[in-house]
Amino acid sequence: TLATPAYKRILLKLSGEALMGDDAFGINRATIDRMVSEVAEVTAMGVEVAVVIGGGNIFRGVAGGSAGMDRATADYMGMLATVMNALALADAMERQGLTARVMSAISIEQVVEPYVRPKALQYLEEGKVVVFAAGTGNPFFTTDTAAALRGAEIGAELVLKATKVDGVYSADPHKDPTATRYTQLSFDEAMVRNLGIMDATAFALCRDQKLPVKVFSIIKPGALKRVVLGEDEGTLVYA
Ligand code: UDP
Repeated sequence: TLATPAYKRILLKLSGEALMGDDAFGINRATIDRMVSEVAEVTAMGVEVAVVIGGGNIFRGVAGGSAGMDRATADYMGMLATVMNALALADAMERQGLTARVMSAISIEQVVEPYVRPKALQYLEEGKVVVFAAGTGNPFFTTDTAAALRGAEIGAELVLKATKVDGVYSADPHKDPTATRYTQLSFDEAMVRNLGIMDATAFALCRDQKLPVKVFSIIKPGALKRVVLGEDEGTLVYA
């Protein structure tokens, strides 16, 4: 049977931690390869995929700031960390036969091309995977906000937020055995219940733009494909 995807264009947010696997920091080769193979599965179904990659596995601006660095400087370091992850991710994609293009919100021309919206749209239409690097290009923001921003800009139908847990729960499933997974909930419910799905800026942007967010497991094999097929996987947060 031919599986029909529920979405034509998606924005996948991968945190830097997602690339670490079980390592303490950096990029775990096996983990990145497995993630890429899951992305390859959905692109093979004809889904256009854009990725926003984080940098927390290499550098977190908040930590640098609290350690006494100038916060904006620390944040620029964090954005540069996402560029390294983007290069590693795109490289892994190319090795698995995908065509990937890294676009950076900060110009580092010798390394990656700058983000130019019409060009990103063109790549997606051509079936290339676009990896957005350097977040929003601004300090004091996060890559979750970049995911919301780019997702809205490229007209993605869904932002997929990959986490270590397979969705949003009524309580911490590691601590509370009665915790249940929400299949779906509205942005307003998520806010009232203080479920902390994304940071406030990212959350507000998705809510205002009526851009639904799916929280799903990056660890569970096949979860990305199930989400794209519209199956009951993870938690859908809708406007
Ligand atoms: N960052 C930033 N502006 C952005 C995106 C990211 O300043 O638009 C910096 C910020 O310092 C952040 C770091 O880059 O701590 C890494 O991004 P993030 O923490 O979102 O990565 P993740 O948690 O997804 O790995």
